[in-house]
Amino acid sequence: MFNDNVYFCPYCNVKISNDICCDLCANDLKKFINTNVGETEYCDSFTAPFLYDDIIREAMLNFKFNVKKNYCESFCYFMKECDIFYCDIIICVPSFRRKSRYNTADLLAKRMSKFLNIKYERRAVKKVKETKLQHECDFKSRLLNLNDSFVANEKLIKGKDILICDDIITSGSTIDEVAKACKKVGAKNVYAIAFAVSNGSFKNFSDLHKKFEIKF
Ligand SMILES: [Zn+2]
Repeated sequence: MFNDNVYFCPYCNVKISNDICCDLCANDLKKFINTNVGETEYCDSFTAPFLYDDIIREAMLNFKFNVKKNYCESFCYFMKECDIFYCDIIICVPSFRRKSRYNTADLLAKRMSKFLNIKYERRAVKKVKETKLQHECDFKSRLLNLNDSFVANEKLIKGKDILICDDIITSGSTIDEVAKACKKVGAKNVYAIAFAVSNGSFKNFSDLHKKFEIKF
């Protein structure tokens, strides 16, 4: 009989009885938790426990394309280990294109909201412009692709400290655009949290803007 309490470790696939990960991975991953921080023009600070690499990358791809109940629980378990600023509300990066497809950022935001005891406002930011999928763009067009594609709900955002939740932060351009939309309607501070960030480049996000001579 199918036992609903049997899960597989998201990082090494052995059978586990909790919904986080196996003891070996828990010990190993704890050593790698590194509060990776950075900022973008509009996002005051962002953080993630892991770099988007190796088993973390594999686990994320499995989560995205073959969603399993315990992955969300496991990712949030590690995300909450980061230093997170207290915020009034948590929001997610709105999903792209196909509305019926689940949005991993939404799943993570919902769970983080419970972990952090911060209200989740699912509809605080909307995607208003159809854009190419970010991974179909090269780096320069990634920055331009999302320009003004999000609109925030002033009633829900104005005067508040906001925490944006996403699955991975790559160039930082997505959370920057969401943060920009929030600031436009009077958000106080905007922070972001993800499960992983891609290697290092985000630390000099504003320099990258200069490098590509992109004007916003
Ligand atoms: Zn494991």
